[in-house]
Amino acid sequence: MSTPALKIYNTLTRKKEDFRPIDPANVRMYVCGPTVYDYAHIGNARPLIVFDVLFRLLRHLYGPEHVIYVRNITDVDDKINARAFERGISIRELTEETNKVFQADVCALGCLEPTVQPRATEHIAQMIAIIERLIASGHAYAADGHVLFDVPSMPSYGRLSRRSLDEMLAGARVDVAPYKRGDMDFVLWKPSKENEPGWDSPWGRGRPGWHIECSAMSWAHLGETFDIHGGGIDLVFPHHENEIAQSCCAFGRELMANYWMHNGFLQVEGEKMSKSLGNFVTIHELLHTEKFGGRSWSGEVLRLAMLRTHYRQPIDWTVKALEEAETKLTYWMTVMDFSVAPLGSDGRIADQLLRSDEVPSTYMDALSDDLNTPLAMQILDRAFSEPRTDRVLSIMLGLSGIDLNAFRASRHARDQAFFEKHGDIVDRLISARNAARASKNWAESDRIRDELAAMGIALKDKKDGATSREVKR
Ligand SMILES: [Zn+2]
Repeated sequence: MSTPALKIYNTLTRKKEDFRPIDPANVRMYVCGPTVYDYAHIGNARPLIVFDVLFRLLRHLYGPEHVIYVRNITDVDDKINARAFERGISIRELTEETNKVFQADVCALGCLEPTVQPRATEHIAQMIAIIERLIASGHAYAADGHVLFDVPSMPSYGRLSRRSLDEMLAGARVDVAPYKRGDMDFVLWKPSKENEPGWDSPWGRGRPGWHIECSAMSWAHLGETFDIHGGGIDLVFPHHENEIAQSCCAFGRELMANYWMHNGFLQVEGEKMSKSLGNFVTIHELLHTEKFGGRSWSGEVLRLAMLRTHYRQPIDWTVKALEEAETKLTYWMTVMDFSVAPLGSDGRIADQLLRSDEVPSTYMDALSDDLNTPLAMQILDRAFSEPRTDRVLSIMLGLSGIDLNAFRASRHARDQAFFEKHGDIVDRLISARNAARASKNWAESDRIRDELAAMGIALKDKKDGATSREVKR
């Protein structure tokens, strides 16, 4: 079976390029993961979902055992120290608790587990090794317990973001410190006070800067140069620029990763998401509270809503978009034959797909064209109204990571919860309505139907006189 060539928009060249892995038997991707000090917000969900679809596609194209996906956990950071202090808990407690919620969130969004989820605190030795190489090759210097990267020592610095040194100076929040030689120089290592987490190093007890963490973890798990590096567009400068500077200078390489992919911004109901505007919403809140749109949403709804916009476009996160995604999923659920063995979120999808010629090639082409998921979702939607086998639908859903079984289960759980809370009153109203109908009091019967409708309950009168109830929201 011929597979379409995967095309990827490369931020480094600002072009859509054919993807050619360094080693097709060992395709390697790194995506910057969370700093575990607070719950992940809905903007953080975007790269999780986007790169999960890419991971699934790569597994299909190269075989599940030939793809390594690394997404790190940043568990040493000054934001973590500050938050743990604020809450009066240990750093360990905070990072463990936050990571647990994060893992549950990504699981609910239907994301496969990455091959490796390295923790920064477990890669301090590699960070120190990279810093020592940088000092030895004249790209870094130690001063006052700090180690700084010497930006002017790298003529190609700024290549990814394409900013001039002047623009970068204006754009970065440069703190002037006496130990810095140049304004742009950034911290690789800094000293820790007694109450701060720290590790012994050739420069005294201290801790790493944020950027060096990703250079060390990608090196440890993917090597000096690898295929794809991903993240949100807000990471291009300075984070990714600095990762490139560290890795390329430490290993004497032209490139850290061959393809750099960045997802676009997310805004909420037309406005930038911020705590001060009060429109800040976490994945956890969307899934488990009534904060957004007065109700909770299933992970499949969040995922489909995300995939209906191309990953490089800005996305407007709205209640309306979530409602539309839910309507789509509800329709698909009614068409789907659930007796067909579901293809779960594991390697079986890719294995089955390799043997399946029935999947519309248009669908594969859309996904392979720089992850054109909006087009793929249209093709998937069409497939539900055409005569297709449920196995094919199941494979198509699996490739996008949409789990209709999970959606159906979440709907069922929501209905259960509703009736547990309101079941008595609903039953009482239904019997009152039945009594009204028996005495041909149609006005009263209609009034009760409306009252139930206002509660979100739709009634269906059956031929045998019985009435079924259904939760509509
Ligand atoms: Zn990173």
